[in-house]
Amino acid sequence: MKVPQHIKRYCPVCKKHTLQKVERIKTSGRRKTSSLKAGSRYRLEKLHKGYGGSPYPKMEHGSKYGAKTTQKIFLRFKCSECGKYNQIDKGIRAKKFEIIK
Ligand SMILES: [Zn+2]
Repeated sequence: MKVPQHIKRYCPVCKKHTLQKVERIKTSGRRKTSSLKAGSRYRLEKLHKGYGGSPYPKMEHGSKYGAKTTQKIFLRFKCSECGKYNQIDKGIRAKKFEIIK
C-alpha cells in the first residue's frame, strides 16, 4: 500500500479540510495493554516454566491456528494549519506499506 506524504483531510480542530502530513506510528498508543490479561498473568508464566514448553498451539502461517501474514499499520496526521495531531484508531492491514514523497 502506498500513501502520499501530504493528504487533504478533515481536521476536527479547524473543522474543515486541511493539508495534513502523514506519519506512521508503531501502535495505536491510546491504551496501555492491561497487566491482568491472560497472556501477562503469573499463572501462564508458571506454565511456560521448566520442561514441556507452552501448552498452547504455535501461531504460525499455514498451521491450523494460523497467524495473520499482514501487519497492522497505524497512521497519524499532522494538520498544517493548527499543528495538532489526529489519528485513526483502527489500523489498516497491509503486507507492505510506503509513504511516497
Ligand atoms: Zn487543524
